[in-house]
Amino acid sequence: MKLTLLGTGCPSVDHKRYGAANLVTTKNKKILIDCGSGVTQRLKKANISSADIDALFFTHLHSDHVVDFYQLVISSWHSYRTKPWKIYGPKGTKKFVKKIMDAWKDERRQRIKYEARSSIKAFDLKVTEFNSKGSYSFGDLKIQYFEVDHKPVKYAYGFSFINNSKKLTISGDTKPCENLMKYAQNSDVLLHEVFIVGEIKETNKMRTKKTLHNVQNYHTTSTQVGKVALITQCKKLVLTHFVPTRFNKSKLINIVKKDYGKAPIIGEDLLTIKI
Ligand SMILES: [Zn+2]
Ligand SMILES: [Zn+2]
Repeated sequence: MKLTLLGTGCPSVDHKRYGAANLVTTKNKKILIDCGSGVTQRLKKANISSADIDALFFTHLHSDHVVDFYQLVISSWHSYRTKPWKIYGPKGTKKFVKKIMDAWKDERRQRIKYEARSSIKAFDLKVTEFNSKGSYSFGDLKIQYFEVDHKPVKYAYGFSFINNSKKLTISGDTKPCENLMKYAQNSDVLLHEVFIVGEIKETNKMRTKKTLHNVQNYHTTSTQVGKVALITQCKKLVLTHFVPTRFNKSKLINIVKKDYGKAPIIGEDLLTIKI
């Protein structure tokens, strides 16, 4: 199994760290997790055609994780996708998908008629919404989903991918929570989000102490993520979803290493990890 980090950023714009998205590939399956800003450009750079993706999983419906959804669908059609999209996500995904597709209905209708392509299967979107936990099988890949704690977001999920007795766990957006620690136990790789303490300064009325406190409070901080990783006994910790996107890397590595006992890998866009 292979993990490709497509976007390691957050809502703040950074040309080196695109919006949240990851790709998991096995011998015969390709699963996309989230589709944040720039996902289609990153897929192109990673040499993956959106026509070939087997399923799209949403961790939650925050815009930094789903904002390029329509771009993904329309560009998959332009990449000659001839099969429906299988989309899995939290409660609300059906409504979200419908609203986005409705917003672009007129332009799509015109394109379909004018461009006269032989298939419109790429616009056939099959959406499945999660329960509190469960699993799906895609050929040689098993995907477990579980709730994480990203309150006030009501429905947010993490995933474990199991292939050839190897396990990859993706935290999604979450503060430290028991469920993540449970599902991530003994993962070969834990891909975890991080909010880096001390790197964002309060600036003006648009970013108050309360803003910083609240944002930090629904993420996992740099002083917590190493402890979480230690509890899970994961073999490798990879960090992503950096808030903020620019920070002192060696300082972050040292802080996390103190708790985890091993140095974490600082995720970068297009970094690929074999599992
Ligand atoms: Zn979020
Ligand atoms: Zn996010």
